[in-house]
Amino acid sequence: MSAQHFELVIIGAGPGGYVAAIRAAQLGLQVACIEKEAALGGTCLRVGCIPSKALLESSEHYHKAQGELARHGVVISQAGLDLAQMMKRKDGVVGALTQGVAGLFKKNKVVRLQGLGALLAKTESGWRIGVTAADGTQTEVTAGKVLIATGSEVTPLRGVELDGDRIGTSTEALKYPSVPQHLVVIGAGVIGLELGSVWQRLGAKVTVLEYLPRILPGLDAEIAALAQKVLAKQGLQFQLGVQVTGARVTGETCTVTYTSGEETKELSCDRVLLAVGRRPFTQGLGLENAGVALDSRGRIAVDGHFATNVAGLYAVGDVIAGPMLAHKAEEEGIACVEHMVTGWGHVDYDAIPGIVYTDPEIASVGKSEEELKAAGIPYRKGTFPFIANGRARALNSTDGMVKILAHAETDRVLGCAILGPRAGDLIAEVAVAMAFGASSEDIGRACHAHPTLAEVVKEAALAVDGRAIHM
Ligand code: NAD
Repeated sequence: MSAQHFELVIIGAGPGGYVAAIRAAQLGLQVACIEKEAALGGTCLRVGCIPSKALLESSEHYHKAQGELARHGVVISQAGLDLAQMMKRKDGVVGALTQGVAGLFKKNKVVRLQGLGALLAKTESGWRIGVTAADGTQTEVTAGKVLIATGSEVTPLRGVELDGDRIGTSTEALKYPSVPQHLVVIGAGVIGLELGSVWQRLGAKVTVLEYLPRILPGLDAEIAALAQKVLAKQGLQFQLGVQVTGARVTGETCTVTYTSGEETKELSCDRVLLAVGRRPFTQGLGLENAGVALDSRGRIAVDGHFATNVAGLYAVGDVIAGPMLAHKAEEEGIACVEHMVTGWGHVDYDAIPGIVYTDPEIASVGKSEEELKAAGIPYRKGTFPFIANGRARALNSTDGMVKILAHAETDRVLGCAILGPRAGDLIAEVAVAMAFGASSEDIGRACHAHPTLAEVVKEAALAVDGRAIHM
């Protein structure tokens, strides 16, 4: 029997792959999507963004019930923690969304193939692709074009002995069976801060060890320093400028070794979370056989339309260069298949927001002040604090500020960073403004409803020209 043929086969059903599959089907292509896991949605839906946000939300409620609600006049005599229920709810959120993706595949007639996809050989009309199921069963399909969207995996750290339990990654930290007494987080990046703050709010002592002298590398330094202050006030303990060289477990105790200047130090704890970054996942894909070129960091090299050096092979998301973000992968997936079908397809890399879901949230888009300085771009800066905003006061969430950077001559908005309540939602306005090439004057003159947190964005835009009203 000849192998089933598709116009497009996508390998990986994370945000890059599944969204590309749906868009390709909408555009009329016959599409199949190969996924090795039983659930669709990739790292983001299964063991990343979604479960961590579910836990962040729950732990925030718990934390508020511990005392903050009393400031609102809501008195709870004894708030308890049912961790098993918290985890069950999280699993329910994940289950509903992954099944939702399966439903979308059905609705759009995307054929789902379960197993590990691998490029076998080039044919006259495209590619032969192998699909190896979990039980070892092998099938084959053929495709005119193949889009690789296999995502990323945790970067290991030499000396840190991951045991899949006490010394683990974000996957383990999303399902600890009990609240750790002392959690040591390696890396003050996005994962470290999000999951560190979940467990800190649930009662763990959390120590974050970071190699650099600052948290959240890449984020505007002023906002990062402010965020560190706010998170430290909440109880997260930071040790910056230290290099973790090892972690091992004996019984229920973990020992983390690190160097601080000339000194070698040790920390004892009951759980370790390794969060020093992620790397492209390309294992078993058969890239070498296919002759696909990688860049110096092991990422698949692509051109502006996501085409690799091999005809008919494309790649998007965490396996290629750029920020490892679900929404960046989605945009690339859509642009890639739209270009295949229509000849047009574009991602605006200058306006991709990034969000850290701590409480308060941290969000940014475009350039940081340091990047503008380094590039010698003249800029003006406007900031506005949440404490001067009525809605933030009513929410009892007044830490943080909005910072907008605009070109000194044209006033075009070049970047924005926010620390504050719902920063992740607020940044969308600035991302849209940037996509339309807006000036800070445009944002400042647009009517923003009162009383809303969005008024802080408007005021920061007005502050670029020194005319904020409420400061
Ligand atoms: P990251 O790159 O955000 O941060 C890793 C941190 O570890 C850095 O600050 C780095 O300096 C530090 N580090 C490296 N080696 C170290 C050492 N030996 N000792 C101490 N510190 C060390 O990586 P992450 O937090 O693991 O996240 C991985 C990827 O997933 C990122 O690209 C991130 O953007 C993405 N992600 C995004 C979100 C989100 O958008 N909300 C959430 C989770 C993950």
